[in-house]
Amino acid sequence: MSKEKVFEIQKTKGLFGRLGEYNHELVLYCNDNATGLKAIIAVHNTTLGPAMGGLRMWNYKSEEDALFDVLRLSRGMTLKNALAGINVGGGKAVIIGDARTQKNEYLLRRFGKFVNNLGGKYYTAEDVGMSAADMEFVGMETPYVTGMPVERGGSGDPSPVTAYGVYLGMKASLKYATGSDSLNGKKVLVQGVGHVGSYLVDHLVKENAKVFIYDIYPDTLAKVASRTGAEVITEEQIFTMPVDIFAPCALGGVLNPDTIPLLNCDIVAGAANNQLLDEIRDAEALKAREILYAPDFMVNAGGIINVSLELDVYNKDIAMRMTERIYETSLKTFNMAEENQITTHQAALQMANDRIQAVGQNMLFR
Ligand code: NAD
Repeated sequence: MSKEKVFEIQKTKGLFGRLGEYNHELVLYCNDNATGLKAIIAVHNTTLGPAMGGLRMWNYKSEEDALFDVLRLSRGMTLKNALAGINVGGGKAVIIGDARTQKNEYLLRRFGKFVNNLGGKYYTAEDVGMSAADMEFVGMETPYVTGMPVERGGSGDPSPVTAYGVYLGMKASLKYATGSDSLNGKKVLVQGVGHVGSYLVDHLVKENAKVFIYDIYPDTLAKVASRTGAEVITEEQIFTMPVDIFAPCALGGVLNPDTIPLLNCDIVAGAANNQLLDEIRDAEALKAREILYAPDFMVNAGGIINVSLELDVYNKDIAMRMTERIYETSLKTFNMAEENQITTHQAALQMANDRIQAVGQNMLFR
């Protein structure tokens, strides 16, 4: 089913119907004519703590597209944070616009004011289209921002930590599927070589994997190819090329009825949020094709683990150690899925929901 068709169905549910679908707590539409800001902040669940999740700036084709994205992404953050064992809830924000041409200090500061008005219910950070330097502008208007530059006392760009976690999740997937977690000689296709994708390529080439890359921006692609020696492929090859591992590191929805039948890989493990267009249907389709799917919210938690430590006392070593748990969590998830004959997505979802429920119940007795 096309994204447009999904939007049509979603619209018939009305706004509250859609918030009720996954029990979102709050959606804030932010508008400012002077700066041109059009943003949506979504808080999904705060059982484990204040909502936390990145700010994405993207040239959405429609407002519907932006709402769809922020609702899915914020719920994904709840699951990710719960499974990662950190005490923050799930939220996310999107700004509608082109980050390459429309992002500036005033727009980001105005966004920061809206975040501030939420009084700490939502902490922002960088996501697609944002950098640590951008968080500095947001931080001029609110303390509820993470991922600030290191020289400003923040934890800096979370992408290297995210990439490290994805790399470990990939190794755990290999271990489960083949008995060895070595990437030596394995063919890995990375879709999207922005912040996370490019750091992931570094880990892969270091371990002598044969890496293929594609990105919609030729300049980004050329830079990563010349730095790492990864081989550039065409857009047409993304879903069909025979590889051991496909690593989606661009945007969501790439695993769907159009692409899954084309895949020529044994494992899907990547950084992109919401890779499954329909989480039940598409996870089942991957299982039926015997492709091991490493749930995105399980393997891409390194960045949020990193920034969440800013709420306490930030320590890079602790962030890396906590991120290393992704390897064990992945193996646990794969085994649970096998034992219960469910998809790996369902297994990860169940583990995340179990933690939220257990913590929520304990809180009632405080
Ligand atoms: P980014 O903007 O730096 O990189 C994304 C890259 O994907 C860009 O280079 C873009 O040109 C490319 N791209 C977009 N559409 C594409 C397509 N159809 N085909 C190929 N390339 C395409 O973003 P990022 O921070 O690297 O994040 C990548 C993904 O990982 C996102 O889905 C993000 O939500 C997720 N993620 C990021 C972090 C983090 O720490 N940055 C943490 C968790 C999850």
